[in-house]
Amino acid sequence: HARMAACVAQAVGSRPTAPSIIASHKHDYYDYLIVGAGFAGATLAERLASQHDAKVLVVDKRPHIAGNAYDRPDEAGILIHQYGPHIFHTNSDEIFAYLSQFTAWRPYEHRVLAQVRDKLVPIPINRTTLNALFDLDLRTEEEAADYLASRAEPVDTIVTSEDVVISAVGRELYELFFQGYTRKQWGIDPSDLDKAVTARIPTRTNTDDRYFGDKHQAMPADGFTAMFANMLNHPNIDLMLGTDFKDIRKAVRADHIIYTGPVDEYFDFRFGKLPYRSLRFEHKVLDTAQHQPVAVVNYPDPDVPYTRITEYKHLTGQTHEKTSLTYEYPSAEGDPYYPIPRPENQALYKRYEALADATPGVTFVGRLATYRYYNMDQVVGQALATFRRLDEKRKSLLAS
Ligand code: FAD
Ligand code: UDP
Repeated sequence: HARMAACVAQAVGSRPTAPSIIASHKHDYYDYLIVGAGFAGATLAERLASQHDAKVLVVDKRPHIAGNAYDRPDEAGILIHQYGPHIFHTNSDEIFAYLSQFTAWRPYEHRVLAQVRDKLVPIPINRTTLNALFDLDLRTEEEAADYLASRAEPVDTIVTSEDVVISAVGRELYELFFQGYTRKQWGIDPSDLDKAVTARIPTRTNTDDRYFGDKHQAMPADGFTAMFANMLNHPNIDLMLGTDFKDIRKAVRADHIIYTGPVDEYFDFRFGKLPYRSLRFEHKVLDTAQHQPVAVVNYPDPDVPYTRITEYKHLTGQTHEKTSLTYEYPSAEGDPYYPIPRPENQALYKRYEALADATPGVTFVGRLATYRYYNMDQVVGQALATFRRLDEKRKSLLAS
């Protein structure tokens, strides 16, 4: 009981409303058993409970809701993200409107600086970056574009994460900003990674120093965990935390399973382990009000063991005499955070995907279950699309 009480406090903070967190499943039978209380699981639980009046049991092996987006006050009372910085951005009006039912927003445009040659310069590379790093005076987009074109190395077919960058900015900038960071983050060279990874970062010839270009950029006003508490706060939803699916799968009867954990684990690693990259997070409180000028500073230097430092007060707008930081140390061991996009991993995933497609009564959704390097909004989009498919199936069943 003490453990569950702690879970409740940790999961929902001091919010007036809370999802019904239970120590063991209340019912023998549920319409849906949902594995994982992250964006994929919470979105589907909310839709199925509210739109289909379905009885839903959500289990998560962690002692909290919100998956990797989980945030909590640290020992100083500063809101931090337990699993590294999560910044919400989307171009989709539908996804933004959907989540807006469960949270108010704090407008926030993310800015990142990179520590390169003892200077802090904007990343994505823009005109300011070029002028600061190379002592230039490029004044127009055209001048910056001409400068980049003079350095870029043409690549016939862009296949890898090295090709993307070299063909846009040339080798020197690639080595300064991307090679070291990527080798640390992924444990492999950019030439061994799919182009999609570094293609996440654009190159700009203007002075726009925002990390994302999306139409909607905002942080949940009371944090992600509070937003998830509102999503899951429905009489049809039971929530069991600190519970591994494999410990209850035989005890709970459910018409349908929605699984958002790692797909290879679901099938007991039948075809071997799918590689996921992990991180170790070091959280620190400093006795100073501000540590760095922006929320995130990246460290591409291979001699620095971490990839980036996040200072949360920039994200949340919280005022406090102290400040809290997270250092990210990439690691092969630990929780699976990132699918590793490269052809052989994709081929192995395809074998698991075929198995998943041939498993009746189970739907696989989310970043780990579909082995896709998805942002939060993309996972919500995938979950809403999954709901629409379940909805159509239900309508045709009711009609027949
Ligand atoms: P998860 O959030 O991983 O949820 C899956 C849940 O399933 C977990 O809570 C896990 O405990 C549970 N689970 C797994 N197996 C079992 C089991 N056997 N039994 C019970 N429970 C189980 N996205 C952005 O849009 N913006 C960002 O700035 C951003 N920053 C990120 C930074 C980092 C360091 C990381 C790792 C990711 C970041 N993301 C960001 C991506 C974002 O975290 C994901 O897109 C999103 O959280 C995925 O949601 P999900 O529900 O698919 O998975
Ligand atoms: N990247 C880099 N240097 C940077 C920022 C990003 O090399 O300063 C590369 C790196 O491979 C990273 C990828 O671009 O993994 C995607 O960066 P993003 O910030 O989107 O990563 P995430 O926030 O998902 O960890």
